[in-house]
Amino acid sequence: SADIERHQYDVVVIGAGGAGLRAAVEARLAGKKTAIISKSLFGKAHTVMAEGGAAAAMGNVNSNDNWMVHFRDTMRGGKFLNNFRMAELHAHEAPDRIWELETYGALFDRTKDGKISQRNFGGHEYPRLAHVGDRTGLELIRTLQQKIVSLQQEDFAATGDFESGIRVFAETTIVELLLDGDRVAGAFGYRREDGGLVLFQAPAIVLATGGVGKSYKVTSNSWEYTGDGHALALRAGATLINMEFLQFHPTGMVWPPSVKGILVTESVRGDGGILKNSEGKRFMFDYVPDVFRKQYAETEEEADRWYTDPDNNRRPPELLPRDEVARAINSEIKAGRGTPSGGIYLDIASRRSPEFILKRLPSMHHQFKELADVDITKQPMEIGPTCHYVMGGVEVDPDSGAAAGTVQGLFAAGEVSGGMHGSNRLGGNSLSDLLVFGKRAGEHAASYVDSLGASRPKVSETDVEVARDTALAPLERTDGENPYTVWHDLQQVMQDLVGIIRRKAELEDSLKQLADLRGRVAKVSANGGRKFNPGWHLALDLRNMLVVSECTAKAALEREESRGGHTREDFPEMSPKWRQVNLVCSLSPSGEVSLLHQPVPTMRSELLGLFELSELKKYMTDEELAGYTETQV
Ligand code: FAD
Repeated sequence: SADIERHQYDVVVIGAGGAGLRAAVEARLAGKKTAIISKSLFGKAHTVMAEGGAAAAMGNVNSNDNWMVHFRDTMRGGKFLNNFRMAELHAHEAPDRIWELETYGALFDRTKDGKISQRNFGGHEYPRLAHVGDRTGLELIRTLQQKIVSLQQEDFAATGDFESGIRVFAETTIVELLLDGDRVAGAFGYRREDGGLVLFQAPAIVLATGGVGKSYKVTSNSWEYTGDGHALALRAGATLINMEFLQFHPTGMVWPPSVKGILVTESVRGDGGILKNSEGKRFMFDYVPDVFRKQYAETEEEADRWYTDPDNNRRPPELLPRDEVARAINSEIKAGRGTPSGGIYLDIASRRSPEFILKRLPSMHHQFKELADVDITKQPMEIGPTCHYVMGGVEVDPDSGAAAGTVQGLFAAGEVSGGMHGSNRLGGNSLSDLLVFGKRAGEHAASYVDSLGASRPKVSETDVEVARDTALAPLERTDGENPYTVWHDLQQVMQDLVGIIRRKAELEDSLKQLADLRGRVAKVSANGGRKFNPGWHLALDLRNMLVVSECTAKAALEREESRGGHTREDFPEMSPKWRQVNLVCSLSPSGEVSLLHQPVPTMRSELLGLFELSELKKYMTDEELAGYTETQV
């Protein structure tokens, strides 16, 4: 293993999106020697693509907003399956994390009186998303990178070395975590450009690798999102929860085919855009479920008045949580009322002036003009659901982000972690999640390192050899299948059998097909050498996509109800019994996925009392509500 480049750190953060960068800043502020590793170029993560904004109950645009209202909205959005403690911490701390970002140099759009402006979004009762036009994620990443550079300058002043406290390893993919007993001891990976192998020895690792969308054919996710962090955690002895819950965003582009799945921001609807079928009908009024009926307008007139007078009117049904809107669109298309390209119309052209659209949605205007030759100030867009976000993820301690299961020293934050969003995430709650839990994970990873004293875990050379051989195996096999063929088949199985609407027989079929794919994934071979070889990289990503897909399909078959991002045609209702259950995935040493039922943590009574009893009754059993008392605020 002489050809392996070696590094020693206190904290290694895998992932350079919002969660990873915020965690790294915190670990470095705690005095830890920190590495940030990213699969793609530094600065290119999903966080950059986030358009709408970051949800934080600052109450700048409507002073009725506060953390309790945000907490309620988040729990409602997740259909009460959320880890309540995470939702509570998130609602409490998001405003501080946004203000803090301005001290790092971010500049959010302003209200007339100079406060941070906030926009409306699906499922949020009040305007709550701090934003920078429709390029909020870019500002978030730009600022965090700037903060890192400023920390590096401080380190240079102190040590003469810019990278003495915090160093970025871009285009480096981690393929395995290494353990010493139950403790994390390191991370092993390769450099994309030259195929060089790298070992990071570190007692604490923060996973911040984002999502899993590339297991689906139609997705808003980009190439890096192959569930690496989820799979690394599983293989290290951590557990995943609620992997059946995937968010299909209602509005992805459907035409031209080469861009199918690319996201159309929810801000289009937040700023007045409406959905119409091929008959010109604004159909969302037909799809308001009972649990939400009190909060949504019943007529177009009321819905339209809401934009200018939200205190005296109810919200338009286009702004229902994403799972509801995606299912409604799916039903309209299925009923034959779709557009020529198999989508639905999203129309803002007939509702707002070109000046307004260009000011509020410049990226969307550019995206449709460039990719589809559609001018959204003049024509409606054609859109349809696209696989967007995974609510499930690494099971963590809510306060520290420490991974559950048998492993020590492993932390997770951001999209790769589970629990915060329950069965469905509200738009805008991700960017705030990254900041709140990224900071917490960085802080707790640092204090874990302190707690170890001199007894740091060690990497075993045998494990390094195994990781090296596993990584190079696809290059050494000559007669295996092409990884792209296998990937195509995996995506087809997930898209067709584990998609928006699920059925028992199809899920069973998916598990059979995934079992067949397992044999094929283990035998793929990649032509060519180690220098910039995407076929080789895909061969390594495939085993991650496969195990994560197995967790999703297994949990989807097990959960016999419909809730948030999991819809069973054969069990169309939400079940109060199932609301009490988290499905926990773990991996046996031989690589078998197993599922366990675990109780969803019970909400503290003063948090429960923030909701009306009549609302809670729609979700919970009488037994759970026996001790209910309304909280006085
Ligand atoms: P990411 O930002 O996804 O970053 C993951 C990082 O991990 C990357 O640096 C990647 O290279 C790295 N990585 C992955 N695997 C490995 C590996 N094996 N080795 C090394 N590095 C690895 N949310 C909102 O709240 N508001 C929005 O408006 C919004 N809009 C969105 C628009 C789009 C098009 C998309 C795709 C998502 C949007 N989301 C939005 C969701 C949100 O952007 C993501 O959930 C969030 O950015 C995830 O952040 P993260 O820090 O967890 O990971």
